[in-house]
Amino acid sequence: MSASYDLIIRGATLVCSDSTRRGDLAVADGKIAAIGVDLEGTANRVIHAEEHFVLPGYIDAHVHLNEPGRADWEGFATGTAALAAAGCTCFVDMPLNSTPVLDAASFRAKAKALSRHSRLDGAIWGGLTPLNLDRFDELAQCGVVGFKAFMSNSGMTDFPHCDLETLRQGMARAAALGLPVAIHAEDDVMTSKLAAQAEAEGRCSARDYLDSRPIQAELKAIGDALVIARETGCALHIVHVSSAAGLRLIADVRRAGGDVTAETCPHYLLLEANDVIRLGAPAKCAPPLRSASERELLWQALAEGLVDTIGSDHSPSPPDMKLGENFFKIWGGIAGAQHNYPLLVEEALRRQVPLSLIARLTALNVARRFRLGNKGDLRVGWDADLVVVDPRSPHEIVARDLLSRHPLSAYVGRQTNVGIAATIAAGRIVHGADLTTTSHPARILRPSSL
Ligand code: ZN
Repeated sequence: MSASYDLIIRGATLVCSDSTRRGDLAVADGKIAAIGVDLEGTANRVIHAEEHFVLPGYIDAHVHLNEPGRADWEGFATGTAALAAAGCTCFVDMPLNSTPVLDAASFRAKAKALSRHSRLDGAIWGGLTPLNLDRFDELAQCGVVGFKAFMSNSGMTDFPHCDLETLRQGMARAAALGLPVAIHAEDDVMTSKLAAQAEAEGRCSARDYLDSRPIQAELKAIGDALVIARETGCALHIVHVSSAAGLRLIADVRRAGGDVTAETCPHYLLLEANDVIRLGAPAKCAPPLRSASERELLWQALAEGLVDTIGSDHSPSPPDMKLGENFFKIWGGIAGAQHNYPLLVEEALRRQVPLSLIARLTALNVARRFRLGNKGDLRVGWDADLVVVDPRSPHEIVARDLLSRHPLSAYVGRQTNVGIAATIAAGRIVHGADLTTTSHPARILRPSSL
């Protein structure tokens, strides 16, 4: 008797973490049930993917979905619709610019909103701030994947940044709990001083903003964080590294045995400083976009294996926070949830960077770092979290197609050839090919035991 599956994807180029080959992939009960050439068997649904790539779903460990508390900025329903359209199959939500996740009560409020409104399963970061060093045990018990800290102003008064002593105490506590600390690494003294100087002199343009957050500020903060991680034995994850020199600092410590990983974001690989001048507020982020030559160095470092994970850092806001003459006062955050992944795949194809490397950075390495179970690769028995990429889908990115709450994106107006034909999370189609149902309570993902 031949096997019967829920879904078979036929004839695709299957991109695993270590190889790429043509074949079929079958899904049953939310898991990858079989992989092979000309698989025998029937299925309720068949996706013919002879022209397509199938990769492990994008696990976006860096998104700001703002719910509860600031759901007028984004929200789980709209944000995860955009993520699913980008090939994302699960995510980890950041603890600030919602009601901050600083204790068990705020974790539970976020978990409730997530399970009610999210299209995708998701995990939750806790915060590391001067306000909640005594709440780490309860956050760990709730199931946070780790603790997020800022070394420079977070932009949110209810999520203050850490000085080095606070960071040291927080990292010691996280280490005792066996959880990583994720850090926004820009030196506050340097960036605050440069920003104050510029504003005092009335230099408030996009260019002035870029100049106020130099790569040196990133390197200084990364260096400080690496020292504290070594002192405390804390696993360290530096988010949104924007410079190749930053990646090299981190890689040197990792080679010497340090438990440290580096994330970068698609916008540092796809955009550059002139795009901030050209696009204005939609391209403002921190650390800021760097020069075109720095972007080339980042790609080189990525190809050398110096990047561990890629996360979107999707960080939207209401449109009125993106207006104003003073660029320093405009909300910093790039909304790119819906297009960052397909654009990254397109750029990797153009640069002949192996898609198996992109699969590791966007899926397997993320699942491993945050202990999200059998996710992040195409292996029999693992979760059927898949993205079907169509490399021949020429179109222009237009605002009216955006699924986020506010139709703002740094990528509007771009021409692209890559589309997402389907996104499949735990065996369910959550975007694309003959989508029938999306309603189920999303599950809260928690780190598996060590
Ligand atoms: Zn962020």
